[in-house]
Amino acid sequence: MPAAANSRLICIATAVASLAVSAAAYLLFYSPAVIRNDDDVDDEQRQRYTVGLHNPSNDCFANSVLQALSSSSVLESYLATDRVRQYKLSSALLIMISDLNTPIRYARASSPWPFLHVLESIFKSRISRTQHDAHELMHLILQTLTDEYAATTTTTAGAPPFEGSTLDSITCQQCFRTTTTSRCKFVVLTLPVPQQSSTTVQDLLAKLLAPEYVTGYGCQSCRLAALAGTARRVVQARNLQADDDDDDDVGVDVVPKLAGDPVGYYKYVCKLANSAASMTADLPAEIEHDLPRTVRSTIVRQTSLHDLPGLLIVQLSRSIFDGHASSRNDCAVQVSEFITLYSSAGVSSLLYSAATTTTTTAGDDDGLANKKTYRLVGMIRHSGTHSAGHYECYKRKPPQASTATERLAGGPQQPRQRQWWRISDEKVWQVSTSEVLKQTGTAYMLVYETVPIAQQQRRRRKTTKQRQQDLNKI
Ligand SMILES: [Zn+2]
Repeated sequence: MPAAANSRLICIATAVASLAVSAAAYLLFYSPAVIRNDDDVDDEQRQRYTVGLHNPSNDCFANSVLQALSSSSVLESYLATDRVRQYKLSSALLIMISDLNTPIRYARASSPWPFLHVLESIFKSRISRTQHDAHELMHLILQTLTDEYAATTTTTAGAPPFEGSTLDSITCQQCFRTTTTSRCKFVVLTLPVPQQSSTTVQDLLAKLLAPEYVTGYGCQSCRLAALAGTARRVVQARNLQADDDDDDDVGVDVVPKLAGDPVGYYKYVCKLANSAASMTADLPAEIEHDLPRTVRSTIVRQTSLHDLPGLLIVQLSRSIFDGHASSRNDCAVQVSEFITLYSSAGVSSLLYSAATTTTTTAGDDDGLANKKTYRLVGMIRHSGTHSAGHYECYKRKPPQASTATERLAGGPQQPRQRQWWRISDEKVWQVSTSEVLKQTGTAYMLVYETVPIAQQQRRRRKTTKQRQQDLNKI
């Protein structure tokens, strides 16, 4: 086991958890179980039970993570593919979530430990029984699944459906050149929650993706263009010819001198200024020296979503550290059942900026192909204080498709709305969507997965119909 991989488990076992749970606090939290235990149920009712998870030793962090992962049909289908199911954690997780999603006639609970022991065996380490953060375990599981996916191929092409990537770029408002400053893969998208009374998930996403304007930036591309202008004036002043199409001399190893060979110098600088990498290219020391320092422009810094995952897991980061101690940010975050995200892949930065401001119009056809609409299928809530509290999961069970192929295609037609469940370890309740969306102050992790096209179209038609009804009332 590589040291780096092993350190991840040590990290989860020993780090000061950002939102932790303690056994003492847990015991205070919930009244005796409310478990349905009907004997006489038909097949449809049988589908309406869900499996809980025992919590003998401070395990609610793991229980909530496993329940949340089991809400995703995208993940379940992925784990069932031949490509990954022979790997240890992928197969263990498939067994775990298949168990959690099994239609049951009688209420029952399983144990998370057969799965957690596999995780321990992979890292040759033990998960401590003290304090934990659900986000760290979620990240560890998904990153390990990613490692197993990567082990199935010698190429770096492709990614598991829960991996996305962000792109940081800067665009000069003067020359409109864009350069990428970094590209980061993620398996959990972390959205810092502001210290204010309330906000929305859309606002947090908009803030993450918002363009930031920086004035007085020394854009190398603009400076090269200015230097080329200076050289051109020297060429014109000496009545020399500098045919823009004639680049015979361009590419010479020795940088021409402006005084001795103004035409050669002009062409040399033009080539640098016109190159696609003009904003970031390493320049010869002579050119670097000649660049005009007074040329400044306004740039736009922006983080964009490049690869949109099929399964999007969001962490609402609620930790506040004041320099001495950590506390929990209780800001009410209004969670949306549907969100639409846009990919910047193949899209100009200006168009992307415009698109990301329309995240609230999920399902509307704006002509931009690189977008995905997501539906909330799971939520982990954390109640209590920063250092002691309790995790629960709200989830919708994936449709019971008969085959993985059918699930990949968006699942079978569901005769009714998929039921939401509130799961607190072995205790389960059926709840409404509105109750889930009310968990504004405790929502900690959100599980979204892409909505199949057919469902998007149905939703769009419904939205249009609702608008028409609203209009008729006026
Ligand atoms: Zn520029």
